[in-house]
Amino acid sequence: MTRASSLRKISPHAPWRASLPGLLRRTFGLRQLRVGQEAAIESVMADRPTLAVMPTGAGKSLCYQLPALLRPGATLVVSPLIALMKDQCDKLRELGIEAVQLNSAVSAEESSAAEAAIDSGRAKIIFTTPERLADNGFVDRLARRRTGLLVVDEAHCVSQWGHDFRPAFLEIGAAVERLGRPAVLALTATATESVIEDIAKQLGVGRFDVINTGMYRPNLHYRVLQVTNEDDKLGRAVSIVAASEGAGLVYAATVKGAEAVHAALAAAGIEAGLYHGRLGASARREQQEAFMRGGVRIMVATNAFGLGIDKTDTRFVLHYQMPGGLDAYYQESGRAGRDGKDAECTLLFLHGDKAVQQFFMAGKYPARDDVADLYVALQQERPEPAAGEPWTLAALQEALDRPKAKLQVALRLLRHQGVVRQDREGRLALTRAGLDRDALERLLETYRRKREHDRAMLERMVFYGQTGHCRWKVLLENFDEAERVSSCGSCDNCARIAAAFAAAAADADARPAAGAAMDGEPGAERTAPPAFARGDPVTVPRYGRGLVDACDGEGVTVVFAGGERRVFLPAFVRPDGRRSGRQELPQAVPANG
Ligand code: ADP
Ligand code: MG
Repeated sequence: MTRASSLRKISPHAPWRASLPGLLRRTFGLRQLRVGQEAAIESVMADRPTLAVMPTGAGKSLCYQLPALLRPGATLVVSPLIALMKDQCDKLRELGIEAVQLNSAVSAEESSAAEAAIDSGRAKIIFTTPERLADNGFVDRLARRRTGLLVVDEAHCVSQWGHDFRPAFLEIGAAVERLGRPAVLALTATATESVIEDIAKQLGVGRFDVINTGMYRPNLHYRVLQVTNEDDKLGRAVSIVAASEGAGLVYAATVKGAEAVHAALAAAGIEAGLYHGRLGASARREQQEAFMRGGVRIMVATNAFGLGIDKTDTRFVLHYQMPGGLDAYYQESGRAGRDGKDAECTLLFLHGDKAVQQFFMAGKYPARDDVADLYVALQQERPEPAAGEPWTLAALQEALDRPKAKLQVALRLLRHQGVVRQDREGRLALTRAGLDRDALERLLETYRRKREHDRAMLERMVFYGQTGHCRWKVLLENFDEAERVSSCGSCDNCARIAAAFAAAAADADARPAAGAAMDGEPGAERTAPPAFARGDPVTVPRYGRGLVDACDGEGVTVVFAGGERRVFLPAFVRPDGRRSGRQELPQAVPANG
């Protein structure tokens, strides 16, 4: 098990402890650490590989910022979020901390200033991307100075089982090695057990101390609206946005879907931004900035928008189509309410939208023959007149006469697996020649398992859309955290159950006793155990009050306030309350004083 249930305490006399409160107050202007932060910092300071799983907004950054100042050497922060690095760097510099960033968006001038700060050992916190860590020259430069701590932000990207796997993250393990095995801190908001294990494996850290503060965020109110067709869905999306207040995100699974929602909003006179992967970089930046500044209240987007978007006062996230799984859904909907105030997360559920995700999946995994043929072709020379020149995708497409999309998928697999390298000009080279059929089969096996995993994730997503249980409970079950809430009390299902309770209780007061009603029914057996109808309020010893959901010869299914369902033998279930209970109460409450 990687999940550490209790933290081994380190000596309370460790010298860094004395300086911590002052540092926290003077440098960061904060009064105290939050629970998870304290545990993470202790673990890092004790040199244990640490993984902190904390919801967005919980304050993961401080978990490395403090150790960065307390530990000797530099702290290297690896993150996929170039857009956020500048901001993070600026903020740290304002606090008087020497922070630099190196990534593809940084000017040549800033790069050389950053390199100088690294070379001189002045740089205390170095932000960079996993792509940059794959550059040997850069790692050599870092290796000349001491790296005390290596931080992997958005660490779920390391894992193939995570919802946002990025192959470049696989390079980080090698960098850990070459930097002399600094302390490692991985940070993420979402990680299942298998993702955690995978992160540890890929980073080569053995076993993590896992600090998991839980993912439950009671300020997020989840609901699902069942829709019957595309028009119905568009109409609902428009009316929800029209009735909303504050900033909001509308997520569609496809560019086409995003465009459709955007157009429908425009037709209804609602101004919204539009963001998807097919827009150029500058258009995307403009859209993002407009939303961040509040110039655009509503943003309609595909999942290209968001990783690292930090608009804390987002009041709602509306999903026009379901995403591929619950971890993606948690992440996307979780962009709402980062300020801790109430926010709405709504899914428009059209069962047919499942097919959209299935389509994506089909495009993600290559067919066996495509991979094998591609590999064989790459081992050979290009045909005349290009003999001796490196292969490109276009050349392969011509030689193999396959659709480009299929070859792209196959090529991506080989690249992910480190079998093929592609340079900036798109030239391809085999880095592992001489793989036999068996070795290829093993590569494909990994992907077959991943595909099955994806299918299961999608089924969970569909289940979420159709469940009558507490939405939070179902979400958290996905992360093995169901025990953290029995019911949120604020999702649509919890609200519905609570309303049914109230109505049934009121009804019970108004209705004549159950026995009388049964008498009037033709063929009713007077000696039979109480028959229950759906919606009847009942009491079950030890479990309390609930509502009957179903009743057959075998048992009575009762739903309790938390959305929990249990089946009982009819003999254990008592028709509720005031009708029959009145006589049983030893001391009746005097009616009307
Ligand atoms: P995450 O990366 O987990 O989403 P951040 O590190 O960006 O979260 O922090 C979110 C916000 O919480 C920031 O505005 C930060 O200043 C604030 N914060 C972090 N730690 C504390 C603390 N101990 N006390 C008060 N505010 C904090
Ligand atoms: Mg963060």
